[in-house]
Amino acid sequence: MGLPVRAALVQAVGGPFILDEVELDRPGAGELRVRVTASGICHTDLTYRAGAGRFPFPAVLGHEGAGVVEAVGEGVTDFEPGDAVVLSYYSCRACGTCERGHPAYCERGYAGNFSGARPDGSFPMRWRGAPIRSGFFHQSSFATQVLAHRHNAVKVDRAAPLELLAPLGCGFQTGAGAVLEAFRLQSGQTLAVFGVGAVGLAAVMAARVAGAASILAVDLDAGRLELARELGATDTFLATEPELTKTMLKRTRGGVDFALECVGLPQVLRQAFDVTRPLGTCGLLGLPSPEASEVTLSMTRLLYGKRLVGIIEGDADPKTFIPRMVALHAEGRFPLEKLSRSYDFEAINDAVHDMEARTAIKPVLRMHGGSTR
Ligand SMILES: [Zn+2]
Ligand SMILES: [Zn+2]
Repeated sequence: MGLPVRAALVQAVGGPFILDEVELDRPGAGELRVRVTASGICHTDLTYRAGAGRFPFPAVLGHEGAGVVEAVGEGVTDFEPGDAVVLSYYSCRACGTCERGHPAYCERGYAGNFSGARPDGSFPMRWRGAPIRSGFFHQSSFATQVLAHRHNAVKVDRAAPLELLAPLGCGFQTGAGAVLEAFRLQSGQTLAVFGVGAVGLAAVMAARVAGAASILAVDLDAGRLELARELGATDTFLATEPELTKTMLKRTRGGVDFALECVGLPQVLRQAFDVTRPLGTCGLLGLPSPEASEVTLSMTRLLYGKRLVGIIEGDADPKTFIPRMVALHAEGRFPLEKLSRSYDFEAINDAVHDMEARTAIKPVLRMHGGSTR
């Protein structure tokens, strides 16, 4: 018999989140049991709810958790009960890719993040006596307590505002990491961001931190462009503007040093590539749908020293990058609170609705609003 905790289950592909009691396993070797204070909701949770993972349901999703360590498993010496942690993606910290400093591309990353199980194939939670998919990003943070791994937990100050910091584990790390880690944008360089949701706005904030000379933001929503401006964008463009690429090229006198696609649409990647200047880099962050994942690009323009690169999790190592974002936030240079909106755990379906309706940029669930367990 495991520990009874409350979780938001998705019982079938595309179905709503249903809150119910599940049993949580004891922490295994390398694992931490974390009492989740808050969890952000990321678009990847919604694409997995829609069946992207092709794993059987029921499942517990969620991968932007933050909370307090309650217990540790065998071999854990770097965490202890009472530690405050932000949870991120899992990496093995031992394969060739991890050792080269790129854990986002870990050779065991698929099993550890996307299989819905632990990397060894077992399941941390049981529901009505049967094991369920509950190792999403080695956390499945839509629950009041979860099992994470020492490799995807990052210690923060015990007094840190966990509700604000929860989304640092994925969405904000993806946008900010792309600019500061993958691109290593330098002061005086230029950036264009296509799609200013949570990921794109994190990129805008990071570019301002790095001292970008101009930051161009493109979106379908005028309200979001206004927020982008407040956070550091110097030029904003409605995505529906005719001759958008031409206008942007003119405004930047031949293109930007870096462009970021944060939407996952072939035509948007094409635009981002086209506004990247010779010797510049175009990065892809958006996850395309399987039905529309091929793009046509000009080989002639590519010849001019342009680079096109796919980027997962900002190519950032959470162990060092999350503390960096926490410090920037404390200095007032990474104002997360302008992007987040809080919901009680019980209101998870409302939070998802607002996210899909684009009225909430980054919904954050408070896991212990009404209950004590
Ligand atoms: Zn690895
Ligand atoms: Zn995510």
